[in-house]
Amino acid sequence: MMKTPDLHTHSTASDGTLAPRDLMARAAQQGVEMLALTDHDTLAGLDEAAAAATEHGLRLVSGVEVSVTWGGRTVHIVGLDVDPACAALRSGLAGLQAYREQRAAEIADRLDRAGWSGALEGARAQASGELVGRTHFARFLVQRGAAKDLRSVFKHFLVKGKPGHVAGEWTTLEAAVGWIRAAGGQAVIAHPARYGLTRSKMKRLLDDFRACGGRGIEVVSGSHSRDDYFTFARWAREQGLLASAGSDYHGPESPWLELGRLPALPEGCQPIWEQPGFAGVDRHGRVMTRVSNCDRPLA
Ligand code: AMP
Ligand code: MN
Ligand code: MN
Ligand code: MN
Repeated sequence: MMKTPDLHTHSTASDGTLAPRDLMARAAQQGVEMLALTDHDTLAGLDEAAAAATEHGLRLVSGVEVSVTWGGRTVHIVGLDVDPACAALRSGLAGLQAYREQRAAEIADRLDRAGWSGALEGARAQASGELVGRTHFARFLVQRGAAKDLRSVFKHFLVKGKPGHVAGEWTTLEAAVGWIRAAGGQAVIAHPARYGLTRSKMKRLLDDFRACGGRGIEVVSGSHSRDDYFTFARWAREQGLLASAGSDYHGPESPWLELGRLPALPEGCQPIWEQPGFAGVDRHGRVMTRVSNCDRPLA
């Protein structure tokens, strides 16, 4: 049995603070064997990550975390083992990146009206890649002294009812899962405990997700409690979904969270990484040549 892989991490290509190559180096140093880079709405970090992973003898899973609007709220769908060259996935993500630009301008306007000028340029200056997100606004506001840390800046500025809040209008669940499948990947619901859904809404989300071809849920997550592990292990079992695990690492600034310090999945879970063919490895652990079904019609 392999050590629990870390299948959810961020680099400077989105809102993480380590460059892809530094993230791979740190993962190797932490004894991680298999790691997925899953930046928000972009594949831009994957080439650099792949080169560094080879150097360190680390198995990299090509991934992405797609922003979705479902039932009026934001839900994140992680795509694992995607073909980064897939045109359907790339053009879908390009649309989300364009929406991010528009949203960033809107967030900046709102902050400006609340007395915080220069936020668009400020947030951009915090971003190393092309993608701008709320985390970059949060870092800018902390630097301006608006709040003491990221957590409190989110709470006072960037969430519902606060001056810099813009309700996201992302893509649909169906489109996100469709792009991931077109790229030969597996769609996984990220950190399900974070959405604050009632049991009946969670059931509806999982039903919709399965109907679109979704495959798994994050049972073990850096933003889950121990109780959440068991709750979502049960959901996975009852719904016939595979289980995934990921830290949601964003960088060493959050010292309470480290790469690859993930417990084993609760009893009875089917690990997504043990599926034959996952990340190019067959059921005997042999590395296979990648066969992508990108741009072929879905079965
Ligand atoms: P965005 O996709 O641009 O709306 O940004 C979402 C990201 O903001 C998440 O992936 C987290 O990295 C970060 N985030 C959301 N809520 C918080 C919070 N309360 N404290 C710190 N970071 C947060
Ligand atoms: Mn993030
Ligand atoms: Mn997320
Ligand atoms: Mn994430």
